[in-house]
Amino acid sequence: MIIVLKKGVSQEQFKEVTDMIKDLGYHAHVIQGTERTVIGAVGSGRGTDKLQAMENLPGVDNVVPILQPYKLASLEVKPEKSIIQISDNVKIGGDEVAVIAGPCSVESEEQIIESARAVKAAGANMLRGGAFKPRTSPYSFQGMEEEGLILLRNARKITGLPIVTEILNPADINLICKYADILQVGARNIQNFALLKELGKVDKPVILKRGMMTTIEEFLMSAEYIISGGNSKVILCERGIRTFETATRNTLDLSCVPVLHERTHLPVIVDPSHGTGHWKLVTPMACAAVAVGADGLMVEVHPHPDHAVSDGIQSLKPEKFSEMMDSLSRFAEAAGRTLPESS
Ligand code: PEP
Ligand code: MN
Repeated sequence: MIIVLKKGVSQEQFKEVTDMIKDLGYHAHVIQGTERTVIGAVGSGRGTDKLQAMENLPGVDNVVPILQPYKLASLEVKPEKSIIQISDNVKIGGDEVAVIAGPCSVESEEQIIESARAVKAAGANMLRGGAFKPRTSPYSFQGMEEEGLILLRNARKITGLPIVTEILNPADINLICKYADILQVGARNIQNFALLKELGKVDKPVILKRGMMTTIEEFLMSAEYIISGGNSKVILCERGIRTFETATRNTLDLSCVPVLHERTHLPVIVDPSHGTGHWKLVTPMACAAVAVGADGLMVEVHPHPDHAVSDGIQSLKPEKFSEMMDSLSRFAEAAGRTLPESS
């Protein structure tokens, strides 16, 4: 249920409401909007009729049921779009389209620094790079682990770009939080509920990638795990789903962007690299993603894709990435958005 508080509610009235929600066995999730405060009463407590009766409290305007199975992620609870602050000058979910770019895997100091400098020069405002890699084969490169995280930190020092890197194992959370600005949950871990619960306790934004067979409702339920654990800084990422089509690695489901915007306040970004599997398809799908309202992009860029240890075929060379950024500008403008300033 959503308990909508009256405008100008006093401290005592607010406390009376939250105390009663807790007494009834629910968790009180407070959402401070620009207009008014709402409280999501979530969990399994002593009955929604008792929550409904809270309408009689002096601080309460009205009490409405949340119809969707996902509660805290829903637009019903928070009708304004969430803007997630990543660093002093980078946020995801505002008018500016966030651009996260970099190699699939961190491979060496030279490779990550060269990538970071190139993507920054072309206008990206965050750097991606995997240090822990979820590979289909146990014999494939598994990532540089902490050594890779240290290299990412050096790249941030040199370029100022915030770092996005993947977490596979709940046991690595503290380690990765020491280095990363955003933790990425990959497609293969979207329903790793133990990991999602742990990420609910973390004070870092999380990019949650849609799984290969994840419905939009399941996608939002996974986000709900993180938010209900206490971390509302969740960014959804469409990266393609598995269909009968084999011409592309995955089928990039761009219709999920407007569908998600109808259902959730969370920012939605798109990864056209994993979504297509071919570098030539990345720019057209990145433009299309911005046209349909994506709040950001995540793009694989490698200085020498032919020598990449993972995902070289779908990685753009820096000059192609720079061309992509040029192509994007008209789509961003048409969608009423801006791109990060290049420096
Ligand atoms: C990645 O971003 O490199 C990755 C492994 O992505 P996904 O989880 O979408 O396959
Ligand atoms: Mn990859």
